[in-house]
Amino acid sequence: MLQQTQVKTVIPYFKKFIKEFPNLKSLSNSSETKVLKFWEGLGYYSRAKNLFITSRIIVDKKKEKLPKTLNEIKKLPGIGDYTGNALLGLVHGQAQIALDGNVKRFFSRIIDKNVSDINFDLLIKKNKKNLFKTSRNSDLIEALIEFGALVCKPKKPDCHMCCIKKNCKSFKLNKQFKKINKVKIIKKSYDIFCYLNEKKQIALTKNNNLGFLDKFILPDVRNSSSKNNDKTWKFLCNYNNFISNKKLKINLYYKFSKKIPPQFNWYSIQGNKEFVPTFTKKIFKQVSNLY
Ligand code: SF4
Repeated sequence: MLQQTQVKTVIPYFKKFIKEFPNLKSLSNSSETKVLKFWEGLGYYSRAKNLFITSRIIVDKKKEKLPKTLNEIKKLPGIGDYTGNALLGLVHGQAQIALDGNVKRFFSRIIDKNVSDINFDLLIKKNKKNLFKTSRNSDLIEALIEFGALVCKPKKPDCHMCCIKKNCKSFKLNKQFKKINKVKIIKKSYDIFCYLNEKKQIALTKNNNLGFLDKFILPDVRNSSSKNNDKTWKFLCNYNNFISNKKLKINLYYKFSKKIPPQFNWYSIQGNKEFVPTFTKKIFKQVSNLY
C-alpha cells in the first residue's frame, strides 16, 4: 500500500484490510474481486492484484515462506528492487537498504551530490561496515525511510534538529534546498458515453484500453480527439479527474436506451456490491443527478 502512497492516507485502508485478511492464508483464500473491494479508493489497483497473486504463490508454492534472495523475491509479481530489499530487511532481517526517493535524497545530501550522479549500489557496498553496525537491520530500513520523510524533507529539511548534521556535507556548505523531482503532470481529454436505463442502471464494460484502468468496469471511454457523429448522445457535464500524475478532462454524455453494445452489462448506480474504481464512482455521481 505504501508504494506511491503516503502513510497517513494508507492507515485507515491498512486497518480495514488487515482485519479482513490477517495473514497470507486468508488473503490467498479470498478472491480478486473481494481484495479489490477492500482496496477501493486507494488507487493503483495493480498493487492489490499483485498482492493477491503473490499471496497465492507463497501459500501454494513456497510453503508460506517469503524467498530469501533478491533474485527470487523479484520473481513475485509487483516486486522490484525497492520492495524486494525492504522485504528482505524487514521480514528476514538482512542487511539491505530500501532505496526510495526519501532515502536517496538523504544520502545525496550527506555526500552533497545529485541523486542522478550517485551509484547507490557502490555507495552502500563501500559503506557497508558503517551502515550495518548492529543486527537491527529492519529498524535501519524503517528509520532511513522515516528520516527522509520527516526530517530530511524535500523542502525545508529540519537541519537544526538533525542528529547527523555534523556529518552532512550539504549542511556544512549551507545549501538551500528546493523540491526536487517534481512530477510532470500529463494532461488528457476523454469523452465518456453512458448508456442508462429507467432502473437507475448504467452499462459498463471491462473491455477498455485506458491503460491506467485496464480491465476495470467503465462506460464507453474515448479520446476526445476521436470523432462522434451520433447525435443521440446528450451532453451532461465536464469536470477534471486527477489520477496520480494525470489530469484528465472529462466530457460526459448520456442516453437512455434498452439496447447496449455487446461486452457491456448493466450495473446499479447506487449500492453496488462489485468493486468500482473511484474514476467510475465519479461518473455514477454525475449521472445519478438525472434521476
Ligand atoms: S543536516 Fe539537513 S540536509 Fe543534512 S541530513 Fe540532516 S536534515 Fe538532511
